[in-house]
Amino acid sequence: MTSVPFVDLKAQYQSIKSEIDAAISSVIAETAFIKGPFVSSFEKSFASFIGTSHCIGCGNGTDALEIALKALDIGNGDEVIVPANSFIATSEAVTSVGARVVFVDSNTDTYTIDVSKIEERITSKTKAIIPVHLYGLPVEMDELMALAKHYNLRVIEDCAQAHAAEYKGKRIGTFGDFATFSFFPGKNLGAYGDGGAIVTNDERLALQAQMIANHGRVGKYDHDFEGRNSRLDGLQAAILSAKLPHLEQWTEHRRSNALYYSEVLKKLDLITPVAPEYSRHVYHLYVVRVKDRDRVQNYLKDKGIATGVHYPIPLPFLNAYKYLNHSQADFPVAASQQHEILSLPMFPELTTEHIDYVAEQLSAAL
Ligand SMILES: *Cc1c(COP(=O)(O)O)cnc(C)c1O
Repeated sequence: MTSVPFVDLKAQYQSIKSEIDAAISSVIAETAFIKGPFVSSFEKSFASFIGTSHCIGCGNGTDALEIALKALDIGNGDEVIVPANSFIATSEAVTSVGARVVFVDSNTDTYTIDVSKIEERITSKTKAIIPVHLYGLPVEMDELMALAKHYNLRVIEDCAQAHAAEYKGKRIGTFGDFATFSFFPGKNLGAYGDGGAIVTNDERLALQAQMIANHGRVGKYDHDFEGRNSRLDGLQAAILSAKLPHLEQWTEHRRSNALYYSEVLKKLDLITPVAPEYSRHVYHLYVVRVKDRDRVQNYLKDKGIATGVHYPIPLPFLNAYKYLNHSQADFPVAASQQHEILSLPMFPELTTEHIDYVAEQLSAAL
């Protein structure tokens, strides 16, 4: 029986093994474990890849969001708008700086934040919006930035799932005051452990974020304020530098895999992802909607096909947010889609044979 993993990090390592091994050896040879040349070199290349003037490496994508919020002086008494459908890190960061999360429902077709429903949630306390380019698909940024400008709100793009995605020909991560990235191993650009980055075009904000991430330091033992310890380490930075030159090609493989999926799934009774004309979707996840999702997912599992659900419970319905007293009726789109969404195997090394097999088994299941 064929088996199809959800992601295959080993296949990727095998394809660039000598480059990764050399990168790791050189960090050890120079004992450049914290900060140092490998980190600065990666920060420089990643900033230039995204198209921002500054990049600050940090511990992970969740820290990146928290540090960005802190650098914007967002905290107690403030409200921050986030999508109902995302990973908890997005909202967790807001609460962790002392601000209040305000959820907005999903767009029916794209699963990202419904930009047309943001305005009704803006109050005099709203300070920022965190659009999440979920599954690798950019949010409608022109409309979102216009709203932010009109209400004088800050924007932090959560790009954890969207490295190399584009909106109207421009890289995501260049629109907001800040953008944050995660290099969790399974992300489109993944480290071999935790890692994250914050990018911005604002020099003052960059310095502030860098200081927050490194104990509020100005000199070795000279601290302007209390920050925290959230640093990208040398090994992860060197691994990321070795992987970055391959990201474009990996992204194209994801895109052609998605195109092929959508072709072979066309005749089945399910809904394939949309990629609006303004977007370059980078398919961190290939999410379809099917009726009777749990049964279909189990059927595929029995046939050796690993799938996921992103996310089984929309954020406002988690126990963690019970205190907000939300009901299903507050987020009708997210509430109805949580039982239908299914993430199929997606990674650059996925083959057309794999995809044919998934399509065949999906067809049998349906
Ligand atoms: C992965 C992820 C994060 C958090 O990144 P970590 O590096 O795991 O802390 C934040 N937001 C979204 C949308 C993510 O998918």
